[in-house]
Amino acid sequence: MPNKPSILLIYTGGTIGMATNPETGALKPFDFDHIMQQVPELKRLGIKLESYTFDPIIDSSDMSPIIWEQLANLINENYYKYDGFVILHGTDTMSYTASALSFMLQNLTKPVILTGSQLPIGLIRTDGKENLITAIEIAAARDNRGAIVPEVAIYFETELYRGNRTTKRSAEHFNAFKSYNYPALAQAGINIVYNRDHINYSPKEDFAVHTKLEQNVVILKLFPGITVQTIKAICNLPHIKGIILETYGSGNAPTSPEFHKILSDTINRGVIIVNVTQCTEGRVNMKKYETGIGLLNIGVISSYDSTTEAAVTKLMYLLGNITDHATIIQKLKISLRGEINDQS
Ligand code: ASP
Repeated sequence: MPNKPSILLIYTGGTIGMATNPETGALKPFDFDHIMQQVPELKRLGIKLESYTFDPIIDSSDMSPIIWEQLANLINENYYKYDGFVILHGTDTMSYTASALSFMLQNLTKPVILTGSQLPIGLIRTDGKENLITAIEIAAARDNRGAIVPEVAIYFETELYRGNRTTKRSAEHFNAFKSYNYPALAQAGINIVYNRDHINYSPKEDFAVHTKLEQNVVILKLFPGITVQTIKAICNLPHIKGIILETYGSGNAPTSPEFHKILSDTINRGVIIVNVTQCTEGRVNMKKYETGIGLLNIGVISSYDSTTEAAVTKLMYLLGNITDHATIIQKLKISLRGEINDQS
């Protein structure tokens, strides 16, 4: 009889573990034992479960690079003790955390599965129980070659997605996440069906953890009417090192010479500007329209079919770990953890 798989369940907070504060009527994070009491089925899974609770537990609106660093260090310290990791996390910033961890944890051979829920686990109609149980099963799944999903992924309402391809799309429905530009890694129905052709296997080098992230980055979303002064103020922020420019459609932006001059002066000062589309589906192609070519010519970098969450955390990761400007640009243009399809 093979050994029982062992999973470290990491609780950061989020609706899954929340209960109503009787004084305000609003939801607030509750302790981990509360979760375990609601899901006695966990004992019958045949999986050795141990847990770690963050202190304080938080609503994920309070998530930060400091906590990402703590998460990455925790996984690093426990990497060889467990077969997989499940992170319970609020849904609001789960895609940012999954994206950040995908860059921070290099050459993973074990699953790191994030999940949470839209309704607290103590409520009768909760989606938390199914999400938690299936996320643990996925984190424990292995065959004779090792873990079936050695990736940072999000499991939510029947779908397993590569974490750095996800976006929170609904504040209402149980299927809160979507990976618009990459297929699901697995679907949970009567069976959990893995889409192995789309899962990343066989890292060539040893597992490595990178905890440094550059926080002097900003997301600048264009809209008709945004003023030149606003753009200038953001581009001239002291210490700014990188800008994610959220453009229209396939990477298009205003053609005004004033706008282009601000961006080009900013790039010439050494600030990296990455073009991400505001569309949830599709990709940046700056060669398609003249409104895009102008950006390409001044040195704006395409993020191809990246989500904003992946683009901003990739930039934080690269700026935090690499000093050579040309190397950062070169790595932005290629897929590091399956976060983009870089074939334009
Ligand atoms: N505000 C909550 C959080 O992100 C929402 C959730 O968990 O669904 O922590």
